Amino acid sequence: MERRYDVIIIGAGISGLSTALHIKEENHDLSILVIDKQNSYGQGNTGKSAAGFRDIFKTKVNRQLASTSIEFYKKIQKSLGFDIGLHFNGYLFLVKDKSPMDAMLQELSSGVKIEIVDRDEIKSSLNIDYELEPEQRKLMNLEGYDKGYVGKNCGIIEPELLADYYFKECVKLGIEFDFGTTVSGLKVVPTDPLDYPGEPFIWQRKKIGSLQTNKGTYSGDEYIMAADVYTSGLLDKTGIDGHERPKKRQVFQVTNDRIVEMLSESVHTDEDIMPFTILPSHGVFLRPAPKYRSMWIGVADDLARDFTMSEDPQPERDFYENSIYQILTSYCKNFEGASLTGSWAGYYSYNTADMTPNIFKELNLTVISGTSGSGIMKGDAIGRIAAAVFSGKEKAKLYGNLEFQVSDIGVNARKVQMEQLIL
Ligand SMILES: Cc1cc2nc3c(=O)[nH]c(=O)nc-3n(C[C@H](O)[C@H](O)[C@H](O)COP(=O)(O)OP(=O)(O)OC[C@H]3O[C@@H](n4cnc5c(N)ncnc54)[C@H](O)[C@@H]3O)c2cc1C
Repeated sequence: MERRYDVIIIGAGISGLSTALHIKEENHDLSILVIDKQNSYGQGNTGKSAAGFRDIFKTKVNRQLASTSIEFYKKIQKSLGFDIGLHFNGYLFLVKDKSPMDAMLQELSSGVKIEIVDRDEIKSSLNIDYELEPEQRKLMNLEGYDKGYVGKNCGIIEPELLADYYFKECVKLGIEFDFGTTVSGLKVVPTDPLDYPGEPFIWQRKKIGSLQTNKGTYSGDEYIMAADVYTSGLLDKTGIDGHERPKKRQVFQVTNDRIVEMLSESVHTDEDIMPFTILPSHGVFLRPAPKYRSMWIGVADDLARDFTMSEDPQPERDFYENSIYQILTSYCKNFEGASLTGSWAGYYSYNTADMTPNIFKELNLTVISGTSGSGIMKGDAIGRIAAAVFSGKEKAKLYGNLEFQVSDIGVNARKVQMEQLIL
C-alpha cells in the first residue's frame, strides 16, 4: 500500500528532526512523516558525536550557524527547563606564539568571547606539558605551546538529549515517525506524465515521485534529504549531486584516577569541568565526559584516511594505540597506562569544497549535506534554513532574529570561504 504525505523527511538525526520541527511550526496544516532506517531517532552520527559545541569558526557563516544554535540550546536548557546536558566549560586551543592558529584566534577575539590563558596555569591545572623532549618533537612532528586561548561560549552537550527535545516537540505538533524503514531509492518521474515507456524524457519537467523502501512505496509532495553520509549514495541514481563525502571519525573513551581528577579542573569558566581541549599538534582533542568519569579522545585525521564507507564502522584499536596514545602521552603523563573503556566510530559528511554545510533545493527535494563534523552545534540553524529553503524563502530567520540569506550556503550562488577550524 502506498503511503502519502505532504512532506517526507529521510533521516531522524539532528538535521532531520530540527528541519521537521521548523517546517511544522510554520506550516501547521502540512502532514509530515520522518523516516529512519534505525529503530529510533538520533541513532546515526548524531548519537556518535563527541558533542562539543563552539562559536569559534574562521568564517562568519559558520559562526552564525553555531552561535544562533547555541543560543537556542541555552534557551532549551535554561528557559524551557529541558535538560540537554549543556555545559559552558569552554574550548581550549593550545598554540605557539605567531603561529597561523595564534593569528586566527587573535583575529577572532574581537567578535567572540575568547580569553588568553598563561601556559603555566594550564600546566598546573591540566598537566599538559608545553615543552616536549626534542627527540620526540622531531620524530613525531610535535610542537610545544606558548599560551592557550579559551573560548567561553563553547562547551559540551548531550546529543541524545538534544534529539529527544526535538523529537518530543515534533510529536506534540503531530509529526509522524516511521522507524525501521530503509529508503533504497528515490524515483524521478515526469510532472505531467504521458504514460509512454521510458519516461521521463529530457524535455519533460521532473520531480521526485516516490521513495522505495523495505516497507513499500512512500509518496510525498515534497521531500527532505537529511541522511547525512548516506545522501550521495541515495541521490546518485537521480543525477542530483549530494556535494558531500564521508570520512570515518572515531572516539576513544579512556580513564584512570588522574584523568578523573583532571575532569573537574575548570579553566576560566564557571563550570567545574575542564574545557574541551585541542592539543597543539595533529588536532588531537580531549573531550571531558564527567558523566562517564572518562575522557573522550578523537582526531579528524586527514591524509591516509580514505573516503570509503561501511554500514557498521568499527573503531580501530591500532589507531588509538599507535597514533593517538603516543601523542597524548607525549603531552600529558596523566594518560599513561589509561584504560580504554569504550570506543565507537561514525562518519563526518564533509563538504570538501569549503567545509561548510550545504542546504539547497533541486526539484521538490530539499537537501542538507556536508555538515563537516559540526552538525550538532549548528543543528538548530540548519533546520531553520532548510525550512526556509523548503518554503522557497530567500531568507531564513535564525534564533535571535538574525536574517540569513539561504543562497549563501546553497549550491548556485554560494558565498562561503574555506572553513579552517575543523576539528
Ligand atoms: C565521531 C564523531 C564526532 C563528532 N563530533 C562532533 C562534535 O563534537 N560536535 C558537533 O557539532 N558535531 C560532531 N560530529 C558531527 C555530527 O555528529 C554530525 O554533523 C551530525 O550528527 C549530523 O546530523 P544528521 O542528522 O545530518 O546526520 P545523522 O545523525 O547521521 O542522521 C541521518 C539519519 O539518516 C538515516 N538514514 C541514512 N540512510 C537512510 C536510508 N537509506 N533510509 C532511512 N534512513 C536513513 C540514518 O539512520 C540517520 O539516523 C561528530 C561526528 C562523529 C562521527
